[in-house]
Amino acid sequence: MTTTLPAYDDVVARYEPVIGLETHVELGTNTKMFCACPTDFGGEPNTRVCPVCLGLPGSLPVANKAAIEATIRIGLALNCSIATWCRFARKNYFYPDMPKNFQISQYDEPLCVDGYLDVEVNGELVRIGIERVHLEEDTGKTLHVGGSGRIHGATESLVDYNRAGIPLVEIVTKPVPGIGALAPEVARAYVTELRDVIRSLGVSDVRMEEGSLRCDVNTSLSRPGEEWGTRTETKNVNSLRSVERAVRSEMLRQAMVLDSGGRIVQETRHFHEDTGDTTSGRSKETATDYRYFPEPDLVPLAPDPAWVAELKAALPELPRLHRRRLQQEWGLSDHDMQSVLNAGAVELIEATVAAGATPAAARKWWLGELSRRANEAGVELADVGATPAQVAELQGLVDAGKLNDKLARVVLEGVVAGEGTPTEIMTNRNLEVVSDTGALTAAVDEAIAANPDIAEKVRSGKVAAAGALVGAVMKTTRGQADAKTVRELVLARLGVS
Ligand SMILES: [Zn+2]
Repeated sequence: MTTTLPAYDDVVARYEPVIGLETHVELGTNTKMFCACPTDFGGEPNTRVCPVCLGLPGSLPVANKAAIEATIRIGLALNCSIATWCRFARKNYFYPDMPKNFQISQYDEPLCVDGYLDVEVNGELVRIGIERVHLEEDTGKTLHVGGSGRIHGATESLVDYNRAGIPLVEIVTKPVPGIGALAPEVARAYVTELRDVIRSLGVSDVRMEEGSLRCDVNTSLSRPGEEWGTRTETKNVNSLRSVERAVRSEMLRQAMVLDSGGRIVQETRHFHEDTGDTTSGRSKETATDYRYFPEPDLVPLAPDPAWVAELKAALPELPRLHRRRLQQEWGLSDHDMQSVLNAGAVELIEATVAAGATPAAARKWWLGELSRRANEAGVELADVGATPAQVAELQGLVDAGKLNDKLARVVLEGVVAGEGTPTEIMTNRNLEVVSDTGALTAAVDEAIAANPDIAEKVRSGKVAAAGALVGAVMKTTRGQADAKTVRELVLARLGVS
């Protein structure tokens, strides 16, 4: 069997990938799915628990209406049909982080079905079918200590049930075929768009790094004309970049196995951030292993169609349409808008414009100086150290003639370093443009007196020579004069204006 990975271009020339994505989103409700325990992130282990989420005998769950409403809104935003009647189901399996030994989920009666989400990849619209959106509860967290953090080699395992019972929405796509070499990018674009949609609904903070948005990626390969191949499910994909890498890596690995005549095993695989590859997890349970049955302790859900219609009418403008509107308002080409998107600057520019800057000025600062600084520091643009309000204030000082471009960059450096607001930094560091005409005139006279030959040339009509005098004045004012004003003054003093 060959052990070297084939080239990506070669793989997509010979195989067709099909991907599918299962995304879990922790809802930002105040309380858990079936009890009144608080849901905030953090907290001492096992302090946010009660008999219901610990699964103690005799306790009974009550469904959280806010979670149901949030799930229906997600379903509507994803163009799904909302069930008029459905039930929760028990999914039976044993794992120490699950105190009841079953999870309350939904099985053959999900709350939302059959929708879609349109995503843009390289300027093309790809429609991703949504199979279902259902509601369930999260598990607790197991911590393996005394080793590398994995169960192997650990001396003990600790379990924290604070997370157990937090409402969790699972969003499952239909299989996505026909995207060929773009499969990794489509996967990433889908998760990005889904995150933005859910964030726009305000129902979750959708932070991948904190685990409130988690993604499993299904990948299979087949030769053209053949049936779809066996799929694997890659877990632990904790960033948008990793979604793309996980699909690509799994495509390469499967091609290598198939090329050498091997078979793909249906299994879960773990993605490793450090190496970018996947390793085998467990062979995948099938639905029958879970012995699903309708949850006997909960009444069925029957959302009133009038209520669902109200929720639908109140949905916010969805991100893709919102971006399109901004692009028009800002007067950007598709290419320029793409640069803004790639830089993660849409919301920052929007907020800077709301704070009073023009779209062009806001874009200039965020895509220019601030993007450069964010890259250098290896941080996201939003974490670069300047806020939209500060950028708008800085631009206001430029527009008022108090700062020129060069001085504005110095002030921005101070803002990023946390020295204060642009106005404070300008004042404290004495960076304001010299606009006192008396002081400027004195500096101009000084420059003329020091350069009599140049002054003579200008007087005799060689206006271009005035540049040297302007330069001399800029030097004595340490760049803090407005060059255009200085030039006008020089010409006026020499009687050529
Ligand atoms: Zn509880």
